[in-house]
Amino acid sequence: MPVPRELFDEIYARHGHRCPMSTLGGRIGYAAAAQVAAAERLAVYYANTCALDGIRVTTGIGNPRVIEQGRHTLVLVDRADGRGVQVSLRPAALDIAWEYRWVSEALDRDRAELDAAGLTARQAELGQVLDGVLQRLWTIPDEELLEIVPVTLDLEGNAQ
Ligand SMILES: [Zn+2]
Repeated sequence: MPVPRELFDEIYARHGHRCPMSTLGGRIGYAAAAQVAAAERLAVYYANTCALDGIRVTTGIGNPRVIEQGRHTLVLVDRADGRGVQVSLRPAALDIAWEYRWVSEALDRDRAELDAAGLTARQAELGQVLDGVLQRLWTIPDEELLEIVPVTLDLEGNAQ
């Protein structure tokens, strides 16, 4: 289901910048929150990235537990019975995020050799790439971006 645009504005305000991963965190959190009752949620995210701010805003959980395994996966369960969903990014989502990161990293590499006009042009190009990437990450259907499966979390925080 589409995420309201105001939620992304809220994510960027909290996060301090617009970026693909905070946007994807919003997509992950919004999809998971739709499946688990609001009152008693427990969240575990398996990577320490910008996605956490998107997850905070869309799940209402200020301090999701972070277990660094380099996996773009959120487990959101009902605290009472441990039942909920596991939401992971599909490779297609990361491919889109990388389109921005390539251009951003290339600019970082080249920055010292650019004159003022060149730098301005490259920054404008980067901004356009970001706009295009975010537009797609706001609107591409859940099925293309996310894998959503039912899950039960045990007391140690291991998903089963
Ligand atoms: Zn970020």
